Parts: sequence; structure tokens; C-alpha cells
Amino acid sequence: MGGWAIAVHGGAGVDPNLPLERQEQAKHLLTRCLNIGISALRSSLPAIDVVELVVRELETDPYFNSGRGSALTEKGTVEMEASIMDGAGRRCGAVSGVTTVKNPISLARLVMSKSPHSYLAFAGAEEFARQQGVETVDNEYFITEENVGMLKLAKEANTILFDYRIPTIGLDTCSAAAETSLQMNGLPISVYAPETVGCVVVDGEGRCAAATSTGGLMNKKSGRIGDSPLIGAGTYACEVCGVSCTGEGEAIIRGTLAREVAAVMEYKGLGLQEAVDFVIRERLDEGKAGLIAVSNKGEVACGFNSVGMFRGCATEDGFMEVNIW
Ligand code: ASP
Repeated sequence: MGGWAIAVHGGAGVDPNLPLERQEQAKHLLTRCLNIGISALRSSLPAIDVVELVVRELETDPYFNSGRGSALTEKGTVEMEASIMDGAGRRCGAVSGVTTVKNPISLARLVMSKSPHSYLAFAGAEEFARQQGVETVDNEYFITEENVGMLKLAKEANTILFDYRIPTIGLDTCSAAAETSLQMNGLPISVYAPETVGCVVVDGEGRCAAATSTGGLMNKKSGRIGDSPLIGAGTYACEVCGVSCTGEGEAIIRGTLAREVAAVMEYKGLGLQEAVDFVIRERLDEGKAGLIAVSNKGEVACGFNSVGMFRGCATEDGFMEVNIW
């Protein structure tokens, strides 16, 4: 047994021109959430409780695309989705099309623990939320001014955004990779806002868990379901590992990314980082996504083929790191 380990992400596909101030904000939030997870692990909370706790925190802060600050549908509304999986016993719960639940990850957890099902969506998920007495708020609570502006830009560019690429014109940018000239409809673009959140944990007992929560893609069709609530695609945990993905959901679904990491570990005997690298190379279209993972040996790993991925990790031996590029 290698002790506990934790990783968090705040989305893949980061803007190469993301202003430094925004980068610092993201790192600060990721560090804060990691520390919440670390304290919980030090108090011997089980992995499943820790991933829920950390993702709740990320949902509550408007910076990333989950809970408050969720990406908007083409109608300007919020339809959130989340999933959670406990590797011990392979129990899971998921929700989609949630419009009033303050912390969708906790509703997913309740689907897992208090319903006979694995996945509830739209009106049924909302009804279940009320039966369970979870905290609800008006849909407006989730809608930030910034996202309203981004939806406008997405509509003008006639595009659906997984990485919020918006024209750089007029933006005061500070480049981490200024040479990377991204274009959208002939315009230089900037990926200004961060994204989907996730957390994976292996606790001191070697139990793995994973949780992912998102508003989905900016300007998505109403009713669109991405990878985040899909067990095996955006989220997966079993006896050997826990995985949470982020990026273009359609590509992650095609690659059944999260489960694939577990599969190559189980069937090919690959180590954690080896498995992550293998799956990204073999199963993921170029530039589309990334993931974080932990193993029951207390290892932590991440991989992405997008420009960047907001992420942080820590292990029991005192290692801690927060990165974007
Ligand atoms: N994977 C999410 C989705 O497609 C988006 C993201 O990770 O930012 O809904």
C-alpha cells in the first residue's frame, strides 16, 4: 500500500493566451481544493467522501464550468451533469439535465446511495432532488455575466465551444505559448474561461474513487449529454484506479477513455502513468482532452493532448503540484 493520493482538474483545452492573473486565480482555487482534500484524507475520510467534498467546493466557486459558472446552452440556460464512482464495490451514480440543484455531484452520490438506479436525468433527476431534500436554487444562480458574454461570442462565431475559444482581439493577453496561433472562422482565438471539474482519490486503505461535474459545452443544444456523467467515459473507478476526464465530450465518449485506462491496467498489466499515456495515444483524437488518475498503490498520474489542463495533485509523502501547461 502506497498511502493516499489525490488529483483535481479544472478542465482541459486551456487558452494559450490566458492572462497571468487568470492563471493565478485558477492555481489558487485548485490549491485550496487540494488542501481541503488533503485535510479530509488526513482525517481518514474514505475516498468517495473526499471526491464529493472537493467537487462540491469546485461547483460552488464560479471560476470553473460546473455548478455556479456552468457553461450555457444555446437557450442561455444551464443544464448540469455529474457522476461519481466508488471503486470499492464499483458503485456509481450520475445525473444530467439538472437545472436547480446547487451541487449536482451530491445528487449523483444520492442516486448511487439512495436510489435503485445509476443514472437519473432531467425532470426525473429534479424530482429525485426534491424528494431527497438537497439544496436547490433558481437557474439564474448558476448563470454568470462572463458566461452570458461567452455565449454571445459563441453564437456570433456559430460554434459550440468545449474550450471557450473566443477572439483575442481587444483582450489584454499574456501568452504562455503565444506562437500557437489558434484560429476559429479565420479569427485568432483565445480560450479564456476554464472548464469542467473532477477529482480522483485513493485513500489510506487503498480505495479509489472518482467524481466529475460540468455545465457541458458552451452553446450546446438543450438535451445534449457529454462524457462527464457517463460512467466509463468521463468517470470511472474500480479496485485498481480512479479516473476523471475533461475535454471534448464527444471524443471522450468515442474513446471510452476512463474505463480504457482501468482496462489496460487490468488486462495488460500497465502501470498507472503508462496506462494513461497509452490510452491518450491510442484512443483519443489529437488535441481533444485530458484526464487525471490515481491507482490503489498510491500513485497519481495525468495526461492530456490539449494545449493545457488545469490540474493539481498531492500524495501522502508530501508531494504537491499545481499546473496548467
Ligand atoms: N467534457 C465536458 C463535456 O463535453 C467539457 C469539458 O470537459 O470541459 O461536456
